[in-house]
Amino acid sequence: MHRLLAHGLILLASLALPAWARAQAAQAPLPVVASFSILGDLVAQVGGPRIALTVLVGPGSDAHVHQPTPAQARAVGAAAVVFSHGLGFEGWVARLLRSTGFKGAHVVVAEGLKPLPVAGAPAGHRHGHAHDTDPHTWQNVGHAVHQVQRIAAGLCTADAAGCPAYRERAAALTQRLQALDAEIRAAWAGVPPDERKLITSHDAFGHYAAAYGVRMLAPLGISTETEASAKGVAQLVRQIRAEKIRALFVETIADPRLVEQIGRETGIRPAGTLYSDALSPPDGPAATYEALMRHNTRLMVQAVKGR
Ligand SMILES: [Zn+2]
Repeated sequence: MHRLLAHGLILLASLALPAWARAQAAQAPLPVVASFSILGDLVAQVGGPRIALTVLVGPGSDAHVHQPTPAQARAVGAAAVVFSHGLGFEGWVARLLRSTGFKGAHVVVAEGLKPLPVAGAPAGHRHGHAHDTDPHTWQNVGHAVHQVQRIAAGLCTADAAGCPAYRERAAALTQRLQALDAEIRAAWAGVPPDERKLITSHDAFGHYAAAYGVRMLAPLGISTETEASAKGVAQLVRQIRAEKIRALFVETIADPRLVEQIGRETGIRPAGTLYSDALSPPDGPAATYEALMRHNTRLMVQAVKGR
């Protein structure tokens, strides 16, 4: 049976039932969908045991492009609330909602946040989104706090009885996120401002750079889609030397030979993998949003300090 219908029938039936049965009916978890893994973690933490969550784009996968499975389409059609990020991050969500006959509440968590222009990144660097603004807002923990508030409000709309629990969990999460934000600022405070620069995926970390005072330099002439030219590599090497950059993150540079060449010519080794758009698997270093932000910050700070 259609899950939303089943849920609705339980609610209807519960009106005529004794208190114990109503309580039992109220314990049927609220069917909720989140578009991608990072948002899914925040939704799971606010929703707790009252929700049954389906995450469409899981750990390690690219949410800019996604082909929903039939099972995912059914989950969306039956959901009471669908959470997506917005700002063009997952453009496929709108079509999915239309095609599944979704009748619940759609909450766009980035709504209300001020757009951040992409600072001059060549189009080739953008992994799947051709926008003038940077949609990766969660890289600023302050923006994640905004999203947690919207998640709680969305769940309250669909499940008024659960609202006090959602608000309580959202408040606890907000406190942890505020502590995390302070922790990231403290980690960077140990690095002189003119040394806070590194090479990484320019467009995915714009919100991080703006929030925490870090310069992210674009690897000029190099992209994931096109094969790097000798000229592009020479340009990058010159840039690394001229800017005295010590931190090189190579997540967007797919060709390992290129990475080795840049390492040989500049004497810097790639400093590891930053997580931008997706969590790691549960046993990885970025299994939750908080772990992701800590991992990225630790890697970046260590790399610019030359450790
Ligand atoms: Zn992205």
